[in-house]
Amino acid sequence: MKALVYHGPGHRSWENVPEPVIQDPNDVIVRVDAVTICGTDLHILGGDVPEVESGRILGHEAVGTITAIGDGVRNRKVGDRVLVSCISACGVCRFCREGAYGQCIGGGGWILGHLIDGVQAEFARIPFADTSTHLLPTSVTDEAAVLLADILPTSYEVGVLNGRVRPGDTVAIVGAGPIGLAAVLTARLYSPSRIVVIDTAPHRMEAALKIGATDIVEVGTDPVATLREMTDGLGADVVIEAVGRPETFELCTKLVRPGGHVANIGVHGQPATLHLEDLWIRNVTITTGLVDTFSTPTLLRMLAAEQIETGGFVTHRFGIEEMEDAYDVFSRAGESGALKVVLFRT
Ligand SMILES: [Zn+2]
Ligand SMILES: [Zn+2]
Repeated sequence: MKALVYHGPGHRSWENVPEPVIQDPNDVIVRVDAVTICGTDLHILGGDVPEVESGRILGHEAVGTITAIGDGVRNRKVGDRVLVSCISACGVCRFCREGAYGQCIGGGGWILGHLIDGVQAEFARIPFADTSTHLLPTSVTDEAAVLLADILPTSYEVGVLNGRVRPGDTVAIVGAGPIGLAAVLTARLYSPSRIVVIDTAPHRMEAALKIGATDIVEVGTDPVATLREMTDGLGADVVIEAVGRPETFELCTKLVRPGGHVANIGVHGQPATLHLEDLWIRNVTITTGLVDTFSTPTLLRMLAAEQIETGGFVTHRFGIEEMEDAYDVFSRAGESGALKVVLFRT
C-alpha cells in the first residue's frame, strides 16, 4: 500500500510500505476513507517533534472502515465505519479512568503518526479500538466527521471548556487557522456576546466571520487597545491562544481582563515569557493542555443533530494518492488560502 512517510526534518514521501497487520488483541485495521493534514504534521516536518522517528507514517485524523479486528475487540466489527480519534486510550490506566485520555500511561495518548504509524495511508492499525474509535451515524459525512478527529474536540476542550466561556462573555481568539476557527464554532455553543478574532491573513479572518466571529482585528492595529475599547477598558473575559508562538501567548495575557481566563491551545516550540510582574495582581487563570477527546461523543451527537455546522472549514479536497500535492497546498496556506484539506479514498 501507499503511505506518507517521514524521513527526518524537511523530508517526506508518498511511497510503498507493507500493509499493517493486527499486533495486539485490541487492534483493528481500518481502510482509510478520509484523512486530513494537521498543523502538527508540519511541526513534525519542521523538526519540532524530535521523538518522531524517520520511517514513521504520519497522520492522526481519519475516518475509515474496519477491515480486520483483533480477538480482544468487543464492540467493533468488520465493516463498521468509524472516526479514528487523534488520541488513543487504553481505557484502564489512572488517567483514562478520569477521562484524561490524552495523558494515558497505558500505551495510549497521542501516539498515531507520532510514536506509532499513523493514518495518512491507505490502511492503518488502530490500537485500543473499543476506546479509541467512534461509530459514525450514516447521516454524518466523512468530511464533517474527520474534523472531529482533532480540531473540534481540541478547540472545545482546551479552548472553550478550559477557558470557561459563559453566556454574554467577550471571547478573544488569537489565531484563525483551523484550530482558532473551531474555537469560534464551539465558543458559540455558550452564547458569548462577542467573539473577536485576531489574525493577520484576510482569508482566515473572512472565514472566521462566516463561522460566527462578531469582530475581526488585524494584529498590526493594536488589538489590546481595540479589546479595551470594546469592553469598557477591561479586556476580554476569555482569551484563547491558537497559534503557539511566544509573542501570541504574551499578547493573550495582555488581552485578558482581571479575573479572566487565558486558555492556551497552541503547540509551542519556544519558551514564552510569563509576565508575573504584571499578572500576579490581576487574578488571571492560565490553562494549557493536550486534548483528551472526552467530548468527541458529544460533538458527534451535535453534528448529527446539525447543532454545529462545519461547512466553512474544508477549502481543498484531494484523492488520497494526491497526498504530496495536498501537503504542498496546506504548507503554503498563505498563498493557497487553505484552511483544512481533506483527502478521500478514490
Ligand atoms: Zn491534528
Ligand atoms: Zn490509559
